[in-house]
Amino acid sequence: MDHVDVLVIGAGVVGLSVAASVANEERGVLVLERHDSFGQESSSRNSEVIHASIYYPPDSLKGKLCLEGNERMYKLCSAHEIAFRNCGKLIVAVTKEEESRLPALLKTAQENGAKGVRLIGADEISELEPKVRALSALYCPSSGVVDSHGLMKHFARQALSGGAQIVYRHAVTALEKIGGGFLITAKQDGGEESRLHARVVVNCAGLGSGEIAAMAGLDVDSLHYRIHYRKGSYFRVMRGLEALPSMLIYPVPPLDHTVGIHTCPDLWGGMRLGPYDAWSERLDYSVDPNLHGLFFDSCKPFLPSLEMDDIAPDMCGFQAKRYGPGEPTRDFVIRHEADRGFEGLINLIGIESPGLTASPAIGPFVARLVAEALG
Ligand SMILES: Cc1cc2nc3c(=O)[nH]c(=O)nc-3n(C[C@H](O)[C@H](O)[C@H](O)COP(=O)(O)OP(=O)(O)OC[C@H]3O[C@@H](n4cnc5c(N)ncnc54)[C@H](O)[C@@H]3O)c2cc1C
Repeated sequence: MDHVDVLVIGAGVVGLSVAASVANEERGVLVLERHDSFGQESSSRNSEVIHASIYYPPDSLKGKLCLEGNERMYKLCSAHEIAFRNCGKLIVAVTKEEESRLPALLKTAQENGAKGVRLIGADEISELEPKVRALSALYCPSSGVVDSHGLMKHFARQALSGGAQIVYRHAVTALEKIGGGFLITAKQDGGEESRLHARVVVNCAGLGSGEIAAMAGLDVDSLHYRIHYRKGSYFRVMRGLEALPSMLIYPVPPLDHTVGIHTCPDLWGGMRLGPYDAWSERLDYSVDPNLHGLFFDSCKPFLPSLEMDDIAPDMCGFQAKRYGPGEPTRDFVIRHEADRGFEGLINLIGIESPGLTASPAIGPFVARLVAEALG
C-alpha cells in the first residue's frame, strides 16, 4: 500500500492553494481529484471577483481570509503574471430605500478593514462611470477581477515544483481512521479501487466536503457540515458592450444573503451579468432561459443603455453552503478535528464566496494546521 504524509482531497482553487503551501522536499504530498483536470467545479464557475471584504460579519473567517486574500492576490498576480484587473467596484443605490442601507454596509466594510471604501454621490458616480445611473454608491477601490484558471495553474505548478503529485480521475470513496493516520479508498474512472495510507488528510472537496467528513465518521448534521447547493446562473451580454461600465457594478444587496445580480466584466473584453441565486437539490448545469426578463429587470435600473436583446443565457455554478433555505448564514469551517477524535483530519467545509479571493490566504492558514498535525 502507498503511503503519503499529506493527502489533499480536491483540486479546486482551495485544494491547489493548500497543496502549493504544504508541498516541500521533506513531505510526500498527494492531491486526489475525481475529474480529469483541476478546477472543473465551483472554481471555474464563478464571477472571478477579487472581493474587498464588505459583506461578512466582522471577525468571521470569511471576512479575515477575504481581506488577507485580497492583499495576497494582487501581489501574487503581479509577481507571477496571472491576469487580473484592480478595476474597483460600485455598490449602487437606485431608490431612496436602497440608499438608506448604504451607511450600514459602509460600517461593516470598515469593521472588516476593507481599504478605501467610501460613500459617493451621483456626480462622482457619473465621473467614474458615465454609463451608470444611481442616486449614490459605495465605492470599493480594492475590488477587482482575476483569471481563476491562471490562478489555479499557478498553484498547481507551485505544488508540483514543491514535490507534490496531482492524480486525476480518482474519487475518494472511503476514509477510515487507523493508528497514525487514515486509510483512504479511491476509485478510478473505470471502477478500479486503490488504497492509500496518509498521516494527514486535508478535505478540500468543495461540494463533496460534507460527504468526505461523513465518510470519516463525523456527524455532519449536528456540526452543520452537511452541504446545501446554491445555484448561481449567469447571462452573457452579447451586444452593446461598448456602452457598459468597466468597473464592477453591484446593486445594494437584496435581503436574502446574496450580493445580487451584478456586472462581471472579464479580462478579455467580455461581460456577464449574474449570478441569479437559487437553492437546488441537484447539480444541474443548465441555465433557465426563462430568467431572461428577471436579468434584464434587475440590471436595467442602473444600466440604462441595456436592451432586452443584448443578453442571452450563459453558464452556472454551485456554491457549497453550510446552511439551507431559511437558515442563518454560517462561516467557513477550517479546522483540525483532533479534539473530536480525528487526529490528522483537517476539514474545509462551506468554502463558498469569497473562497476564490480568500484562496491565497487559505493555503498558508492550512499549512500551519498541517505542520501542527504532523508534529
Ligand atoms: C456562482 C458563484 C459565484 C462565485 N463568485 C465568487 C467571486 O466572485 N469571488 C470569490 O472570491 N468567490 C466566488 N465564488 C466562490 C468560489 O468560487 C469558491 O469559494 C471556490 O471556488 C471554492 O473552491 P474549492 O476548491 O473549495 O471548491 P471546488 O472548486 O468545487 O473544488 C473542489 C474539488 O473537489 C473535488 N472533489 C469533490 N469530492 C471529491 C472526492 N470524493 N474525491 C476526489 N475529488 C473530489 C471536486 O471534483 C472539485 O474539483 C463563487 C462561487 C459560485 C458558485
